[in-house]
Amino acid sequence: MIQTHGYAVQNASSPLAPFVFSRRAPGPHDVHIEILYCGICHTDLHQCRNDWAGSTYPMVPGHEIIGRVKAAGAHVTRFKVGDFAGVGCMVDSCRQCASCRADLEQYCEKGPVWTYNSKEYQNQQPTYGGYSEQIVVEERFVVKVPSALDLKATAPLLCAGITTYSPLRHWKVGQGQKVGVIGLGGLGHMGIKFAKAMGAQVVMITTSPDKAKDALRLGADQVLISRDPTAMARHGNSFHFLLNTIPNAHDLNPYVNLLKLDGTMVLVGALTALTPPLMGASVIHGRRSVAGSAIGGMAETQAMLDFCAQHKIVSDVEVIAIQDVNKAFDRLLKNDVRYRFVIDMASLRTKN
Ligand code: NAP
Ligand code: ZN
Ligand code: ZN
Repeated sequence: MIQTHGYAVQNASSPLAPFVFSRRAPGPHDVHIEILYCGICHTDLHQCRNDWAGSTYPMVPGHEIIGRVKAAGAHVTRFKVGDFAGVGCMVDSCRQCASCRADLEQYCEKGPVWTYNSKEYQNQQPTYGGYSEQIVVEERFVVKVPSALDLKATAPLLCAGITTYSPLRHWKVGQGQKVGVIGLGGLGHMGIKFAKAMGAQVVMITTSPDKAKDALRLGADQVLISRDPTAMARHGNSFHFLLNTIPNAHDLNPYVNLLKLDGTMVLVGALTALTPPLMGASVIHGRRSVAGSAIGGMAETQAMLDFCAQHKIVSDVEVIAIQDVNKAFDRLLKNDVRYRFVIDMASLRTKN
């Protein structure tokens, strides 16, 4: 076993604090990674606070991990010591079900093993995430980081990046389409960059007028303030596709009414019951669809990173020391992040 330092919460209301735990010793198929950077996803906040129920403690969050390979097992073929590597939301899946065979491990029928707040299949040991100094992961769930990418700004691609890239690809977003990204946060700012790079006309749909300038800088062609009913009506029935990243329960109806005939809105944020209810008329008129999407498979995560290298896309980040992680959580809750916090894990090594 490997003794590992990290930060954990002990219950749904405790702050993150230093925590020492054990990781498994690397096996022949494992990659042992020294963590350099870890992004702070809004999911980390939901999970620490038990917003979705089912949280287990102590919990070391973090699933936007970039690091350097410390050791590679005897059967590892794609990594060697010193390589830069990424780990996202999953660390294992059954490999046998139809989803796994289709490279869609995130929809594994047995249930993937998540990077934290989950249990390893073999020994039912809890998994601990990336707010820590090192991690051991089977090669299939590790991606290669193209050398062109800035490491700290690449960490958020492992979740915010793939979660927005995958539905844009699945619904074949591209030239000639009007695409709306709802919510300008960690996911939303990646959604703008990807939709733009794929050739769509991009509209940022936000509750925050003060983010309009940033939205245009990030690549949006237009900004729509969702709290302005006149502006919302002006854009009614006009969108081919909407990517909805709002983290909490909200009224879907005003957004669905933005879709044109056969348009689709994909939810990636709100996991809980959505209130008020969706009106049947909102989808019946215009044969509209409301769908959902979870991260992306490992092959697609690698393809997304390669796409980022090709199009020079990374995340806009604010780098913090791990000692400031509770402040970052508070700011994330208050919608005060431009647009992703990333923990520099050197702070854990030097100041702990
Ligand atoms: P974030 O950085 O906090 O951004 C969310 C944005 O949504 C905010 O910046 C804000 O943008 C908008 N917003 C917040 N509360 C709102 C409300 N009540 N009504 C309308 N808009 C609101 O969060 P994130 O890290 O991007 O994550 C977004 C959600 O996706 C979280 O729930 C997270 O758990 C989930 N997630 C899902 C997956 C998946 O696989 N499906 C993966 C990663 C994350 P404006 O100021 O522009 O309005
Ligand atoms: Zn995430
Ligand atoms: Zn499976």
